[in-house]
Amino acid sequence: MRIDLHTHSRASDGTQTPSELVGAALEAGLDVLGLTDHDTAAGWAEAARAADGTRLTLVRGIEISARHGGHGVHLLAYGVDPAYPPLAAALDKILDGRSSRVPAILERLHSHGIEVTAADVRRAAQGTTATGRPHIADAMVTNGYVADRSQAFREWLNPGMPAYVDRYAAALVDVLRLVGEAGGVPVIAHPWGRHGPEAMGEQAIAELKDLGLAGLEVDHEDHPPEARERLRAIARDLDLVVTGSSDHHGAGKDGHALGCNTTAPEEYERLMSLA
Ligand SMILES: [Zn+2]
Ligand SMILES: [Zn+2]
Repeated sequence: MRIDLHTHSRASDGTQTPSELVGAALEAGLDVLGLTDHDTAAGWAEAARAADGTRLTLVRGIEISARHGGHGVHLLAYGVDPAYPPLAAALDKILDGRSSRVPAILERLHSHGIEVTAADVRRAAQGTTATGRPHIADAMVTNGYVADRSQAFREWLNPGMPAYVDRYAAALVDVLRLVGEAGGVPVIAHPWGRHGPEAMGEQAIAELKDLGLAGLEVDHEDHPPEARERLRAIARDLDLVVTGSSDHHGAGKDGHALGCNTTAPEEYERLMSLA
């Protein structure tokens, strides 16, 4: 069983439609695919139709943008009901925050001589409900300012870079509660991907477990081997589910091929039994 529990489609910032993603997952030999677009479930229905009648099991998830202790945290919510009104309202607010900073970012790029218009971004974001930095990056590539998305983020769009603009993110403790109320199973995505253990150590993770956290995404390309070992030990100590996934974005992110990291079948069974 090959299980990849964290991927993105064009419903957020992946480059494949949900159907194309399902096709690619079958080609990559996956048995279970988690579709976890940022802050939206908009891709689920199309992915479910595409997976119907194939050997692929689709796991419905959302990667929710949250904040904890002054740092951005991504929370994977599996099997949630996105129509649960308080959760739907929170997701709307996060999506609004994502798209409302686009003009501010374009203004900053303009002040540095980089001309990308709102129409350029709309073209790059065709089919998504979550317009944001990745689409600005794509428009910068199209307009010839950078070679790829990574360069756009590294030199312009990441925190600390000239065109970075902060945005609203929900408090992680609130998101954990909402996900639980909406019947979902929460797993922290790439806990040490952007910040190391100083941002979220064992104590902090233990506190989140008390609030309903079910698992940690340990095997992720942003984690070097030592980080994976330490996170695996923490998950064992705290009896948290361990997941592994590609965080695939189609052609939008290099080095994240479908199935490059996978989740062990027994961990997947545990996760599903909690949903
Ligand atoms: Zn993420
Ligand atoms: Zn992701």
